Amino acid sequence: MVIVMKTNAKQEQVNILKKKIERLGCAVHITQGENCCIFGLVGDTSMINISQFEAEECVDKVVRVQAPYKRANRLFHPNNSIIKVDNQTIGGKELAIIAGPCAVESEEQLITIAKDVKRAGANFLRGGAYKPRTSPYSFQGMEEEGLRILLEAKKLTGLPVVTEVMSVELVDKICGYADVLQIGARNMQNFDLLKEVGRCNKTILLKRGMSATIEELLMSAEYIMAGGNQNVVLCERGIRTFETFTRNTLDLSAIPVLKKLSHLPVIVDPSHAAGKWWLVEPLAKAAIAVGADGLEIEVHNDPANAFSDGPQSLLPEKFESLVNDLRVIAQTQNRTI
Ligand code: PEP
Ligand code: MN
Repeated sequence: MVIVMKTNAKQEQVNILKKKIERLGCAVHITQGENCCIFGLVGDTSMINISQFEAEECVDKVVRVQAPYKRANRLFHPNNSIIKVDNQTIGGKELAIIAGPCAVESEEQLITIAKDVKRAGANFLRGGAYKPRTSPYSFQGMEEEGLRILLEAKKLTGLPVVTEVMSVELVDKICGYADVLQIGARNMQNFDLLKEVGRCNKTILLKRGMSATIEELLMSAEYIMAGGNQNVVLCERGIRTFETFTRNTLDLSAIPVLKKLSHLPVIVDPSHAAGKWWLVEPLAKAAIAVGADGLEIEVHNDPANAFSDGPQSLLPEKFESLVNDLRVIAQTQNRTI
């Protein structure tokens, strides 16, 4: 719910109304415009009767906003959010190209790939140290040793590091190593984890759950932002549909929809959407063409022997030629790589 104050509303009236709303159990997010002040009510407004506010002398109008998210909503933040991460930005003119292996497997593997993707034009390094695997018998990640290797690769290449955090207990530890904490598709609605990363000061890469609606994704972003952390990047990575040829179905329309509804940067992971390396290239190109702010792409120097997600991983040389092609498409969107 949004309450627009009259242009001549007195500060005292504004303060009294704010207290009244807070007594009803809602927090108030105030946006001070040039001519008037707007209240964004955060919390459960379903029990609030609009007419009790419309009757206030200082109120111009009350609008029920269908969207239950406020902080992630473009309505209250018309400009695109540009998130600064280390020496890079996400959501600005420069596209975020996050590349690296699905999982950190060894120091040699990660450092080789990190140098390759940097040379090709990536500006972030990805690599999982804690892996959410469908089978408990699959490789679960190198854990803290993997984090140490990621930091080592950052020192050598200068690339900020993106890695997944799977549990509340690991947030502090991973904050000690990584620049961007990834919340995986399987954890998009792990609300305790969302609250915990909402209290940290790292950028959060929030992946869309495999059966989550766009609104549910935005509500998960809202959890993080309500906790105090405004640095959230949304990631479309494919959703489950009846189609089985691809690992997931990349929802390309989600990108312009998210960009319309929210000011947060939106990136695309074509690797987990496709599940097949040869599909990564066309999907990555399409993602940039529809306005994505960046990509997260799995790259491996020996896909056939990768510990995880080899079939969807690009060889470094394939990744390099993809980035070169993407520069052309980026230009059409007034973006750069
Ligand atoms: C990943 O990026 O390593 C990953 C597991 O992706 P998702 O959570 O989208 O499946
Ligand atoms: Mn993977």
